[in-house]
Amino acid sequence: MSSDSMASDSPDPLVTRFAPSPSGYLHLGNARTALLSYLAARKAGGRFILRVEDTDEARSSEDFMMALFADLKWLGLDWDEGPDIGGPHASYRQQERRAIYDEYLSRLDAAGLTYPCFCTPAELSISRKRQLAAGQPPRYAGTCRNLTTEERAERLVRGLPAALRFRVPDGQVVSFVDVVHGEQRFNTNDIGDFIIRRTDGSTAFFFSNAVDDALMGVTLVLRGDDHMTNTPRQILILQALNLRIPQYAHVALLLGMDGAPLSKRHGDTSLRDLREHGYLPGALRNHLVRLGHSCVTDGWLDDAALIADFDLNRLGRAAAKFDEAQLRHWQKETVAHLSTDEFVKWIAAELPPGLDPQQRAQFVTVVRANIELPSDARAWAKVIFGKLDEFEPTALAAIREAGEGFFTEALQVIGHPGTEFKQAVKALGQAAGKKGPALFMPLRAALTGFTHGPELAPMLALLPFAEVQARLEHARRLAV
Ligand code: GLU
Repeated sequence: MSSDSMASDSPDPLVTRFAPSPSGYLHLGNARTALLSYLAARKAGGRFILRVEDTDEARSSEDFMMALFADLKWLGLDWDEGPDIGGPHASYRQQERRAIYDEYLSRLDAAGLTYPCFCTPAELSISRKRQLAAGQPPRYAGTCRNLTTEERAERLVRGLPAALRFRVPDGQVVSFVDVVHGEQRFNTNDIGDFIIRRTDGSTAFFFSNAVDDALMGVTLVLRGDDHMTNTPRQILILQALNLRIPQYAHVALLLGMDGAPLSKRHGDTSLRDLREHGYLPGALRNHLVRLGHSCVTDGWLDDAALIADFDLNRLGRAAAKFDEAQLRHWQKETVAHLSTDEFVKWIAAELPPGLDPQQRAQFVTVVRANIELPSDARAWAKVIFGKLDEFEPTALAAIREAGEGFFTEALQVIGHPGTEFKQAVKALGQAAGKKGPALFMPLRAALTGFTHGPELAPMLALLPFAEVQARLEHARRLAV
């Protein structure tokens, strides 16, 4: 029983999809899956479908679905079919596809491939524990598989809740060729009959997800490798229904730098968190595409270049570790690629109100290379346009190291209206007998509160003279 021949002989254009459950904000793992699926379709000139898997009504919400659309759009993805834009296979919300599922369930019924299961969660849990204790992989023990017609009828009359299970054939091998992992083989004896309709009447993931992929013409299912063992189940369903089996590409799950699955304790893990933090979509795209996929280009890629660079053959098996330092790197690159207008718009909310356009333009020129996040712009705007009331510990140390005399001299040579900064610093160096960092560091510390930052002279050109004087005077007193 092999699916690879069906998949690889396909002359059709590539159709991929992203099929999230709207039960929370889009996390990075799913954002990466969406991005890779989108790039695969765009690269091949195929179609990218968005399908919302909301069969679990208790956990799904309309708000999360709206947030999902917004987050995907923010990341720069668009789709050719989806709940918000419709398409030839509508609806793209599983809750609205029940009639379709009922039809396909009844086909399985008619073929004798389903049976009702009355086992309670407690009974299933005991059976599971027993199997584990005996060193066997847990699978459904088949308790309700061979109930007689009378036994079934009797339980139904008693009103026992019934799930519907798929009857997995015995002693067969399900094989498929995974795009990332190569040939996979599963023995059906290890699978166990699985639930395709829950006791509440909703269809289970195995079933609705597989049926929808087939009916929507999906040719490549790209998803996390936590779904690898679900795939043989889904292939069995598709074969039983005589529906087309897609190709599968299972990408490594996203991990934190410590090798543990990415979770809240690794910090921001939803796209929304990172966006609120000030990260730009280009930074996320460039980091995420390199997690589980190797790019031929090392540098920053815009959307068109990302599509051009993407290659399904370069999806890899190596663990994909989300690395905030890498994200920072791509953020810097993304900021550097913003036009001046885009940059100004990006940091606008962080600037003090009432800046004239010239001051704003000067500020942007001076600080741009020092800004990775809008909060950095806020900090430099405070240094330049606000009052200096905080000093980094290293800045305080530099001020104290320079001593009171240094700042007394500085006030003499720098603290005058119209001082030409470079000349003045030279004069100060001679008067104080200092040069290099011993000369510049305490000045920078006194005038900005930091020992690092944008070039000093153009920054000071933005400070009113009285403010320069006040800061030097303050430093003189701190140095006593
Ligand atoms: N709704 C499933 C999930 O979010 C989809 C998995 C798949 O892509 O097939 O995990």
